[in-house]
Amino acid sequence: MALNLLMLGPPGAGKGTQAERFARSRRIPRISTGDILRDAVHAGTEIGRRAKAIMDRGELISDDVMIGIVRERLERDDALRGFVLDGFPRTVAQASALDDIMDGRDPLIVIDIVVPEAELVRRLGTRLICAECGTNAPIAGGAGPCATCGGKLVQRADDNQAVVLERLKVYHRQSEPLVEYFRVRPTFRSIDGAQPADRVAADLAAAVLAAGNVGVGGGRR
Ligand code: AMP
Repeated sequence: MALNLLMLGPPGAGKGTQAERFARSRRIPRISTGDILRDAVHAGTEIGRRAKAIMDRGELISDDVMIGIVRERLERDDALRGFVLDGFPRTVAQASALDDIMDGRDPLIVIDIVVPEAELVRRLGTRLICAECGTNAPIAGGAGPCATCGGKLVQRADDNQAVVLERLKVYHRQSEPLVEYFRVRPTFRSIDGAQPADRVAADLAAAVLAAGNVGVGGGRR
């Protein structure tokens, strides 16, 4: 059975870090739409050129573009054995398209990472990422080079204070309704993302196990 995991939560909740760690431990791909878009910006593709200005304002790329990107990615062979989806869906229209894409596949397990707003603002204001490979630096990591590739650590273009506040506003308006969309499913769980990363990882693994048990034959899909 494929482990199809969807991570919900506001920017700064730790979705990327936890998704990466979980995907590596289960040997399934982590699919981050933010990373796909940042790669497109870096590569200077047509989508990347159009996405950059929108991302720099903290707004969302159109549903059509995002659904197309994710549909193509989820149909690749490596994702048929399971995946961790991080950053998608971000609107109810994207969630409904995802349900269509997943029709006939194993159920989605949906984990919502909950973190108080003040903590999100603090984290996003101090977060550093590697300019080379995009990895998040540990929150209390100091100013050294990237632990993964030795690259230089920099602030993400959309982590400056004005854009952070806009991204949180966009989250509450457009993405938070997704929690209600998915909450009614037996494969939905919330976890406390304000704890140290190791505890969050342990809670995530336990929540996936519990949701997966009810999900076999019991979830919507
Ligand atoms: P993230 O790395 O997930 O915080 O995404 C960074 C930025 O990419 C977001 O602020 C959006 O501008 C854009 N983005 C990523 N995923 C999506 C999505 N599913 N729908 C629309 N825009 C997205």
